[in-house]
Amino acid sequence: MTRTFRVDRLHAQLISKSTLFKVLNFLDGQTPETPFLLMDKEKVREKASFIGRGIRNSSVFYALKANPDAEVARLAHQLGLGFEIASEGELEILARIGVPPHRIISSNPVKSLKFLRMAYEYGVSLFAFDSREEVDKMARYAPGSSVYVRLAVPNEGSEWPLSRKFGVELQEALELLLFASQKGLTPVGITFHVGSQCTNLYNWSIALDKAKRLWDAAAERGLNLSLLNIGGGYPVNYTKAVLEIDTIEQNINRLICEKFPDSVQIHLEPGRAVVGDAGILVSSVIGKARRGDDDWLYIDVGVFNGLMETLGGIRYTYLVEGSNAPKKPWTLAGPSCDSFDVIDENVLLEEPEVGNLLLILSGGAYTISYASEFNGFSIPATILI
Ligand SMILES: *Cc1c(COP(=O)(O)O)cnc(C)c1O
Repeated sequence: MTRTFRVDRLHAQLISKSTLFKVLNFLDGQTPETPFLLMDKEKVREKASFIGRGIRNSSVFYALKANPDAEVARLAHQLGLGFEIASEGELEILARIGVPPHRIISSNPVKSLKFLRMAYEYGVSLFAFDSREEVDKMARYAPGSSVYVRLAVPNEGSEWPLSRKFGVELQEALELLLFASQKGLTPVGITFHVGSQCTNLYNWSIALDKAKRLWDAAAERGLNLSLLNIGGGYPVNYTKAVLEIDTIEQNINRLICEKFPDSVQIHLEPGRAVVGDAGILVSSVIGKARRGDDDWLYIDVGVFNGLMETLGGIRYTYLVEGSNAPKKPWTLAGPSCDSFDVIDENVLLEEPEVGNLLLILSGGAYTISYASEFNGFSIPATILI
């Protein structure tokens, strides 16, 4: 079957032509039952080799929560990435594909005992923390580990803020590093997270400034740190073209070279940027209705089985199959019977027929990892192409 999609300038600007071409080709052949997520391996490879390239002395640890599909993890492993994980479930995925412990770190500042024990036993020895309780836990269940403290930094300009739950201010961070040392742990460095989908270059500047002040304060107290973990946060294109990764990295690298010793080791933990724009979610239109003054379009993927981030304000760009009708605004809703299951409003789309496909661009990150089978609707299968 040949399917037609009207790709316009916006689509072409947001997503790489080769990814789109590959997906459309795939859909021209046999189409599995929707919903499913197509991941462009070549795009993941490109991102994996690109990220970190602009930063001196850096290693990349893919934040597995962005997309923990086993084949995606295997690909990331083959591409030489390390992993940042938070739970026993994530560790199991990596153990199954044979990722060695020195390629794994955990920047979750509050780890479950079960995970901490399992990670230690596996040989993981690099952990974040931001409380005395966590130091006690690590001293007991992961003795001798190397640890880095999480600083609170501004998350303004990030579409998915991560600051309130974790991170401490300078003075407390310093005391925690000293306390970790007293408890027999090895304090090695500092981490922060500027917030996910961060489009504000300034966030990294402020964070690096703050980290530098802590670095110097620690040196004055006799702690010679060696590691700066700059978290994740690199953005991908959803509804507009965002800050480019090499622009972000040039800025970060310049500041690191200015402020930190030449020997500082940099860790990056990108999640969204590794997989987000490599993925396209494929859904089907399952219904249409006119309610009051609004046109509603129902599709078989919604906030519970893949599009959870829309509840926090992430908006996607869509591509609908086969119509030459003029565009009009739609309220886009998922398949479940819950009224939270509304994906987006005022989405300009040509009118599709029930049964037509609707593609959700940049759907590779934080979609299937959040998905549940609420109300019996299936979690999209992931297919690498
Ligand atoms: C989620 C998370 C990341 C990945 O963030 P992105 O914005 O997806 O790059 C990195 N580090 C930590 C500690 C996280 O919790």
